[in-house]
Amino acid sequence: MSDGEPDDRTEGGTRVGVVGAGVTGLALTHYLREQGADPVTFEATDRPGGVVQSKVVDGHVLEQGPQRVRLSGPLADLVADLGLVDAAVAADADLPLYVYADGRLRQVPLSLQTFLTTDLLSWRGKLRLLKEPLTDAGDPRETAAELFTRKFGREAYENVIGPLFGGIFGSDPARMPAAYALENLIRLESREGSLLKPAVQRLLGGESSPTVAFEDGNERLAEALYEANSERIRLERPVETVRDAGEGFELQADGESVAVDEVVVTAPADAAADVLERIEPDAARLRELTYNPLAMVYLRATHGREGLGYRVRYGEPLRTLGVSWNGPAFGHGERPGADGTRTGVHTCFLGGMPDREVLEQSDDDLARIAREEFEAVMGTSAAVIHVARPEWGFPAYDESWTALDGLSTPGGVHLATNYTARMGVPARVREAKRLADRLADGE
Ligand SMILES: Cc1cc2nc3c(=O)[nH]c(=O)nc-3n(C[C@H](O)[C@H](O)[C@H](O)COP(=O)(O)OP(=O)(O)OC[C@H]3O[C@@H](n4cnc5c(N)ncnc54)[C@H](O)[C@@H]3O)c2cc1C
Repeated sequence: MSDGEPDDRTEGGTRVGVVGAGVTGLALTHYLREQGADPVTFEATDRPGGVVQSKVVDGHVLEQGPQRVRLSGPLADLVADLGLVDAAVAADADLPLYVYADGRLRQVPLSLQTFLTTDLLSWRGKLRLLKEPLTDAGDPRETAAELFTRKFGREAYENVIGPLFGGIFGSDPARMPAAYALENLIRLESREGSLLKPAVQRLLGGESSPTVAFEDGNERLAEALYEANSERIRLERPVETVRDAGEGFELQADGESVAVDEVVVTAPADAAADVLERIEPDAARLRELTYNPLAMVYLRATHGREGLGYRVRYGEPLRTLGVSWNGPAFGHGERPGADGTRTGVHTCFLGGMPDREVLEQSDDDLARIAREEFEAVMGTSAAVIHVARPEWGFPAYDESWTALDGLSTPGGVHLATNYTARMGVPARVREAKRLADRLADGE
């Protein structure tokens, strides 16, 4: 067997070359094998997981990528198949989420009861939000900020939707064209006739998927996928280019050439451009996509508040974008104190589109800014555990996404990425499953 051959080839199955072993590439490899296809997966670095990366510092689990995932759709089944159900720690249902606005934390209305009681919105703001079904449909030519403001009112946008939606991408919704950032939402609205109606129906339906974090870190999910499929995954094998080979393609990876029937690229935009440029010169445009760089400061603190964390409203005199209360929400082995307080790790996010400049500060300064602001917001002292500057940021979904207009890949070459489709881990796994089903069927 040559070095280019995986050691358990599936006879007769579609041979799929997968570029990248982040969660998308790992899940795709898993589903392709389940479907009887014949994947071979190349990862540039020496570890699987990509953005999903956990680190243990002084006994604390620190997440450098996803802080928590919603166990929904195919991801829930995948976690069960991998035997990880017991390792998935669920946050209590209906834990609150907060927005820091006008000097204090205010509860995000995620239930009908909190909609009535929250002081994040005035009564006038709440009534305006309820008028959403009477507004004109979302227009892809608007920005996300314009669309949300027009449909839900300025107060709901500035106090709730802007901080939550912008926070997902570390972006400013005023810079995010709806055509790219809200494509799914616009589709949902045209199906349902409203955005509020399906949200309320979901709230009234009661049952929602649990939000989980994995014991020992979310990287556990990537490790389990890798362990289950390791004979098909080659670490430290960056793919350099894809060539048309007449019947199928050739992947050039670290001096080796591998023949495949189909190619799926899951790598970040600039790496995907490098890999695809030879077979599709237009792919060079992927390099134009902007990512929002981040720093994370991990703090250990004790407090009596329950919740998942908070986002900071734009315009507040803080440089922190938001804080995930991972320790208190998921325990990670720490028991509540006798007085009900919880101690644990809090991840503070800094930077993103609103404040790239803060990343020019030293680690000591970032740590000081995050700690002082956290202490002021929470009214409790905090100790700095670690400062991380991950090499990846959030895909910005800003005006640079026009670079994707009219971009297509040759037949048999596919992009399955968090910048051409949705970003969350459940959505990455769902896309991997759909694509595996199609490829295994020879579509
Ligand atoms: C800071 C942060 C926080 C997040 N928080 C959450 C959250 O709380 N919940 C949630 O659901 N989602 C969250 N997300 C989103 C989610 O984690 C990511 O969208 C998802 O993990 C991306 O996975 P991926 O496999 O598509 O891409 P990646 O993780 O980027 O994987 C791509 C892989 O391709 C490899 N590669 C690159 N070039 C090559 C090459 N030439 N050859 C071979 N391999 C190559 C890379 O090394 C990498 O391993 C977060 C994202 C970020 C950045």
